[in-house]
Amino acid sequence: MTRLDRRGLLPAAGAMLMAPALLRAAQAQTAAASAPMAAASPQAPGFYRFRLGGRVVTLVNDGQGRRPKPTEGFVRNAEPAAVEKALRDAFLPVEHLDIPYTVTFLQAPGGLVLFDTGTGGQLGATAGNIPANMRAAGLAPEQVTTIVLTHFHADHISGLTDAEGKALFPNAEIVVPEAEWAYWMDDGIASRAPEAMRGAFAGARRRFAPYQSRVRRIAADAEVAPGIKAVPTQGHTPGHTSYLLSDGADQAMLLGDVTNRPELNLANPGWHLVFDMDAAMAEATRRRVFDQVAADRIRCIGYHFPFPANGHVVKEAQGYRLIPAPWSSAV
Ligand SMILES: [Zn+2]
Repeated sequence: MTRLDRRGLLPAAGAMLMAPALLRAAQAQTAAASAPMAAASPQAPGFYRFRLGGRVVTLVNDGQGRRPKPTEGFVRNAEPAAVEKALRDAFLPVEHLDIPYTVTFLQAPGGLVLFDTGTGGQLGATAGNIPANMRAAGLAPEQVTTIVLTHFHADHISGLTDAEGKALFPNAEIVVPEAEWAYWMDDGIASRAPEAMRGAFAGARRRFAPYQSRVRRIAADAEVAPGIKAVPTQGHTPGHTSYLLSDGADQAMLLGDVTNRPELNLANPGWHLVFDMDAAMAEATRRRVFDQVAADRIRCIGYHFPFPANGHVVKEAQGYRLIPAPWSSAV
């Protein structure tokens, strides 16, 4: 029996002692390191299904946005070291933060309902995968009868139109929270908005333009359709709204942006993220909603959760923790 020479297995021991296969591997590694970075390899199609009572929910991933330096300025009321620790504790990089986008389709008796629309491929090269992932999931834009919006931030509404302003969902009625509409469509508020927010007001006007005749404004606690109930969750934006989906005894809470990535904002519900327009209200909303879904064991869908963007939430000594939903080959 031959004893393996440990030194012979390590590249550091020198090429003389290196087996030919190892030598080739080391050379390939060196070549890869010096080659320009290859384009990202495609992932499996980003859709995930689960059953809600007799209905089918399909989550479709749009990709993600990358925020550089999440330890600096991303959380308004936490020290960089605390943010860095939270990232490391979650095995996430500390140099950048990928913020995923996932939309939800609900096959309801009245038709196919879409919640939020993604980026429409207009917010950077790392997102815009909804058309391809919809095709993979067997869903077509023409089938969508209703689009329900949580709020009007660009990562949620840009997919209403293409870059030229043409409606991407030719047959859909758009359901919007009244308070959200009132804020973003108010010309007075828009004209007084700080420079950094002007684009958001203009963007909202552009996205809704081709849908003007088919926008339905709803109260904060309205029943949108049987089994789709609006839940007021203001704070992230003035009219931010979540939706409780139900069929029979089955329920799922579509959160929108009640929280951003759970590793940061669910673990630390008191953290005020830069996107929360009224951070104190957003925090109060976050605690109220998560206390409820944890106590009632309601499945949650989070727009910025890591794909497949759903699971259950448990309350911990400090904050909450997401238990991601399992994947099953059968729905
Ligand atoms: Zn968002």
